[in-house]
Amino acid sequence: MKGQEYVLNSEQLENAVKNFVHDFCADKHEIRTQPVIQESDELLLERIKKIGIPEQGRNVEEVVKQMQDEVFKFSGNGNHPRFFGFIPGPASSVSWLGDVMTSAYNIHAGGSKLAPTVNCIEQQVIRWLADQAGFGENAGGIFVSGGSMANITALTAARDKKLDENTLHLGTAYVSDQTHSSVAKGLRVIGITSGRIRSIPTDDGFRMNMEELRKAVEQDEKDGFIPFVAIGTAGTTNTGSVDPLDEIADLCEQHHMWFHVDGAYGGSVLASPRYKHLLKGVERADSLSWDAHKWLFQTYGCAAVIAKDVRDLYKSFHVSPEYLKDIETEDSINMYDIGIELTRPARGLKLWLTLQVLGTELMGSAIEHGFQLAKWAEEFLTDRKNWEIISPAQMSIVNFRYAPEGMGEQQLDELNERMSLRLNESGFAAIYTTVLGGKKVLRLCAIHPETTQEDIQTTLQLLEKYAIEIYGEMMHE
Ligand SMILES: *Cc1c(COP(=O)(O)O)cnc(C)c1O
Repeated sequence: MKGQEYVLNSEQLENAVKNFVHDFCADKHEIRTQPVIQESDELLLERIKKIGIPEQGRNVEEVVKQMQDEVFKFSGNGNHPRFFGFIPGPASSVSWLGDVMTSAYNIHAGGSKLAPTVNCIEQQVIRWLADQAGFGENAGGIFVSGGSMANITALTAARDKKLDENTLHLGTAYVSDQTHSSVAKGLRVIGITSGRIRSIPTDDGFRMNMEELRKAVEQDEKDGFIPFVAIGTAGTTNTGSVDPLDEIADLCEQHHMWFHVDGAYGGSVLASPRYKHLLKGVERADSLSWDAHKWLFQTYGCAAVIAKDVRDLYKSFHVSPEYLKDIETEDSINMYDIGIELTRPARGLKLWLTLQVLGTELMGSAIEHGFQLAKWAEEFLTDRKNWEIISPAQMSIVNFRYAPEGMGEQQLDELNERMSLRLNESGFAAIYTTVLGGKKVLRLCAIHPETTQEDIQTTLQLLEKYAIEIYGEMMHE
């Protein structure tokens, strides 16, 4: 192989980038005319498999074009203003730019020595996030790939703080029936088996039932277990509910437990002056997960995990004890000492760029817009014939179903599921179902800053049209 053949020459590179950016921007500009979900079919997948991996290299422009035409388009488009499915997420084009820059320079952000400025920026953003949470000056953290990794990272610190080799097998953890599945997954990874994860029931508002939590903790203590961590959710994935954070903090203090808040979705509310109060009590947590690729409009994967005392992360993850000095002098934390990864991209740079360009005021109002969208949806459905609100607008989520009289629960489940399928097939909008209190319900989650009231209304009108159609079909089946 000749020296240069593994890279493009500068002219080829420049052309490939220019063409790509040109087409990408044109696509982005036309996003409203594109289907929200574009299904791929077997034929297309067969064609892609047939391409195989060639022995002789191919022309770069041809391959790039092929990827644009046959790969990226065929997906659910979370960037579309009428994608109301799962939370992540409409990415800001500023974040996209930051991501491209970060990849382009390809800086190893594992340690601080080789990239002190990059490290400094990531720490600055973590500092800002920690300040929003009211975490105080010993707080610190790291950008990881998502909420799942953030939760595992925090739970590891909780384990190491509260349990040791001799007591690990006795540790019990407390989640609610609405806690995100990644928490139980994380607990299992760190050695807390399913039999020691207590799922606490929630109340009518899908918040952790404190009476039940207290009883479970006390019973476990009586039985010789060691309750070591409780997980409160700030914005559950299903309904946007917030657990009683202050009360969980009280209980954790009484029983010397670690208090972790999963704010993967709702952490961003801390950046809204108007709604920040909803997360009251988060300042008492020992750790916080906060996804930036959800409600801070970042491209994947970008989430922060923040510990109130960064030394707790250090104790769990550091690889050579003599670095303790560095961490105490504060300005040079090696990321590999406070998290799982060694080689890692500087995930925080794009968020920093976004905050620089947008400013915190605009960021705050972009988040508040999500609250407004969910309220508009709720208002539209309230008092409208045959619609039932199952969980009112909380944060940017509202849950509802179409429930005409005379249908049994099973039929209603089927009806609502088919409504979701038909809407998603239409390409106009996307809404998925979830299960609440045993009922299959439609869940609208709207965080896109460019979604309008009209988007919400036309989507719900279309959904109603499908509801009436499918109802008719079911009556004749
Ligand atoms: C989305 C979500 C997660 C998981 O985050 P990923 O970034 O998908 O790994 C965890 N907890 C909550 C509450 C979430 O909404």
